Amino acid sequence: MTKRALTFLFIALALSACSRQQPAPAQQAAATVPAGQGGERKYLLERVDDAAVAQLYADGFASLPLREKTLIWHLYEAALAGRDIFIDQKHRDALEMRGVIEQIVAHPQGVAPATLAEVQRYAKLFWINNGPYNNLTARKFVLKTTPDAFAAAAKASAQNGATFELRPGESLDAKLARLQPMFFDPNVDPSVTNKTPGPGKDILTSSANNLYAGGVTMADLKRFKERYGLNSRLVKANGTLTEEVYRIDGRYGKQIAEIVRHLEAAIPFATEPMANALRALVQFYRTGETADRERYDIAWVQDKSSPVDTINGFIEVYLDPRGIKGGWEGLVFYVNQEKTARIRTLAENAQWFEDHMPWNQKYRKTSVQGIVANAIDVVVETGDSGPVTPIGINLPNDQAIRERYGSKSVALSNVTEASNRATPGSMRGEFSWEQAEADRGAKFSELAGELTTDMHEVIGHASGQMAASVKASPQTLIKEQFSALEEGRADLVGLYFIADPKLVELGIVPAADQDAIVRAEYETYTRNALVQLRRVREGSQIEEDHMRNRQMIIRWLMANTKAIEQRTRDGKTYLVMVDPAAFREGVGRLLGEVQRIKSEGDYAAAKTPFETYGVHFDPKLRDEIVTRVDKLNLPSYTGFVMPKLTAATGADGQITDVTISYPMDLTTQMLEYSGVKR
Ligand SMILES: [Zn+2]
Repeated sequence: MTKRALTFLFIALALSACSRQQPAPAQQAAATVPAGQGGERKYLLERVDDAAVAQLYADGFASLPLREKTLIWHLYEAALAGRDIFIDQKHRDALEMRGVIEQIVAHPQGVAPATLAEVQRYAKLFWINNGPYNNLTARKFVLKTTPDAFAAAAKASAQNGATFELRPGESLDAKLARLQPMFFDPNVDPSVTNKTPGPGKDILTSSANNLYAGGVTMADLKRFKERYGLNSRLVKANGTLTEEVYRIDGRYGKQIAEIVRHLEAAIPFATEPMANALRALVQFYRTGETADRERYDIAWVQDKSSPVDTINGFIEVYLDPRGIKGGWEGLVFYVNQEKTARIRTLAENAQWFEDHMPWNQKYRKTSVQGIVANAIDVVVETGDSGPVTPIGINLPNDQAIRERYGSKSVALSNVTEASNRATPGSMRGEFSWEQAEADRGAKFSELAGELTTDMHEVIGHASGQMAASVKASPQTLIKEQFSALEEGRADLVGLYFIADPKLVELGIVPAADQDAIVRAEYETYTRNALVQLRRVREGSQIEEDHMRNRQMIIRWLMANTKAIEQRTRDGKTYLVMVDPAAFREGVGRLLGEVQRIKSEGDYAAAKTPFETYGVHFDPKLRDEIVTRVDKLNLPSYTGFVMPKLTAATGADGQITDVTISYPMDLTTQMLEYSGVKR
């Protein structure tokens, strides 16, 4: 279970390797909106420091049957009901801090304009990150004004209707003084999760999150038998540890009771397998017992056919430096039938692709099963999954359940789409040799990227077999080179077949566009060998496996074909894809060799292409790329404004319709979620 920041969105959803993939908006060249596809609507709403704010759309919702809309409505309410849990898990003061800044933002009259602007900036970052810590770096961010100016702002707001929740006997000044270190001092609780705090330091006391309280250390845990690993807060008081269990009559009981109420309302509208899963989830929220969580995981993973689904609970463990305690999250989504149909078509034809793999017959499977993942559209994501959201999810995390019952994979289509459209095309422009290349990318690289991702996943990883004489697993034989080799192999399958007429025959690609799609994909992939270097700001070596495989493929093609030319203009370096036919021929040849290496478990041969082409790079070239990228001032992550649902009820209280709308404003949505009136 690992979390990866991806270089490109079209990189595969590494189904077995990652439980979650994160979008990396600044790291890809994104499409501008193609004409004629709702081109007028807005995706990018605003920039806040290094974050972008974008609107998420769920176009298919409106045409769902009422029963599914009603189901989604109740699940949506359940997702919102748990939202504050994760903010509290981030830091013990986070909800109180949010209360203060939201009141000022909602009652701005009389606040000094400069102070107000700073409180608004801080509030937006706080909302996007669910607390005062940056999602990417885990480091605290602070208010850039003075405590006096902040106190004056709070008082001005109070004059204009703001209400601040005060502890018994505590004044507003005393409250602000108590919270001052968290708002203003970057050295107090500087990191929310710190897995490497340095020699002699404890990972738990060096991490400011609220999963542990009272100064629990790793040493304390040696003498303690933890019964509720995933769903409890560990508290140390008078030298003793206790577990505060997250359940209906335990910690977060108030929120959990609300979640349960909405889940129970959803059950009558769910399919039978989904209703089973929801009942099991309710039972787990009641008891908090691991056995009930396991029953829920099993019921959830066994429901593979419902058109609507939800993830609601303590799921991912990235917030905990120990990797044990779950951060709460709520997601609600429905299957994107059109995109899922494309994945299914590929899976149904997996044998045809296997029979046409450009490698020796003896490494081809005689009976291959494509890997099926659902393409989904998200309606709402809260807690650990929103406003910053993953683009792919593979659950459950419980390894024993995965081995016995399998897992479910989803690709978040509308998130990928909004990420692409919200990012300015300037990265592509900067690294394209000529305007026609940039234009082609703008028009076709989004579709091309989706296609190669699908093929990478569905037919790429599933393909090929070991040589009959080889008995050990390829992981064991190819060791540290395996995962880069395997990712490279799956990428090459996508690059090879995107140019195949079979895709037209299957109705996946329009015949008239295939040449342009192929060219756009090869150009984007080629440019990335340069663009990705900016992510390795130190040294001259690539560590990350996906980056290694992409570097290897492009540099190998440059050395072994005439498909790519390196050119310079005005002191800038470009990689120009000049011959798609030569590119594809090279990809086929390299894929044949990569498959041979895997099938034979040939460790020495696996090392050679990576050592020669994939690992080392020229730091001067990297410095040039970094300078060019920094000048573009692209965001490093994106927070999404979620769609809004509204239910209409009849005289008997029955839901008669659910409509979807798009708030187009982060502040509006966040104040509404918190129930703050302006
Ligand atoms: Zn992969």
